[in-house]
Amino acid sequence: MNETTQELKDKITALKKKLDVTVVAHFYQRDEVFEMGDITGDSLELAKKTMADDSKFVLFCGVAFMGQSVKVLSPEKRVVMPKLACCSMARMIDSLYYDDAVKAMVADGIKEENILPITYINSNADVKAKVGKMGGMVCTSSNAKVIITTALKEGKKILFVPDRCLGQNIANQMGLKSAVIGEDDDLVGADIICYNGFCAVHQLFSVDDINFYRKKYPGIKIVTHPECDPAVCDASDFVGSTSQLIKYIADLDPEQKVAVGTEFNLVNRLRSKNTYVLSSTKPECPTMNETTLEDLYVTLKSIEDGEPLNEIFIDEETGKWAKIALDRMMAL
Ligand code: SF4
Repeated sequence: MNETTQELKDKITALKKKLDVTVVAHFYQRDEVFEMGDITGDSLELAKKTMADDSKFVLFCGVAFMGQSVKVLSPEKRVVMPKLACCSMARMIDSLYYDDAVKAMVADGIKEENILPITYINSNADVKAKVGKMGGMVCTSSNAKVIITTALKEGKKILFVPDRCLGQNIANQMGLKSAVIGEDDDLVGADIICYNGFCAVHQLFSVDDINFYRKKYPGIKIVTHPECDPAVCDASDFVGSTSQLIKYIADLDPEQKVAVGTEFNLVNRLRSKNTYVLSSTKPECPTMNETTLEDLYVTLKSIEDGEPLNEIFIDEETGKWAKIALDRMMAL
């Protein structure tokens, strides 16, 4: 580590002590930013732990929908972000595209009152609000199965947005039928109807990568995130959310080789001589990587100067319905 980085870290630490602020960092952040986090974790952990925290300011190092979720759940907190980086998956849907997805289902013969929407937490507040208004809820990759099981009890068709892969993977795990809007003709016949969004980072893993590692290291375990393509998840030994992947790998025998299909910064932090990145391409999330240590310092300084940068504001109506969708998940 060079002296400049250490100096910057010292200045950040001094400002954190002085200010009424909690620094929150997602697992996919750069190492030097992640190390500065008071609260770290995946999206669900961050949402829960930040709700329980009582600092006036939350400085959120992640992507925009995450900062929005904190603001929606805790409107009294002042949420600032070093970069308003937007997750490419969250950017694939907005409230207008959401309406189009509902219209496509209706056009296929499904009555609007028979649609129960579920949004992956990787969506912006306007989409969460639409879902909340239609009686639906949010899910994460850790709890998607529980949420879908609960939703199915209502006997409705599930509209799952925005990640088609998570929707398809959960459907496969639960023995349900899925269809993708715009790709499949028969929406009526499916239990889970998926919006056609995806994570560009998790699309980098392929069945060829899995075959390569299985051939090179017989007995290797393949673990992947459910944002990967269903063919990749089907060929894996374990599929789980970020926290579930970390636990699975930690519980393995240290001599067990494992190839991991998820974001690079996280896998790199877990690295041992037996841990491999399941891709020939470096699977870095560009938007998660936008936040630098310098950005973190500048944002803390802006709080000290009384002019916080990149503060998150959500209008009352959007906040109200997005909170209802998030609260329904939290209640489960
Ligand atoms: Fe979004 Fe994919 Fe980056 Fe996660 S890894 S923030 S889903 S683009």
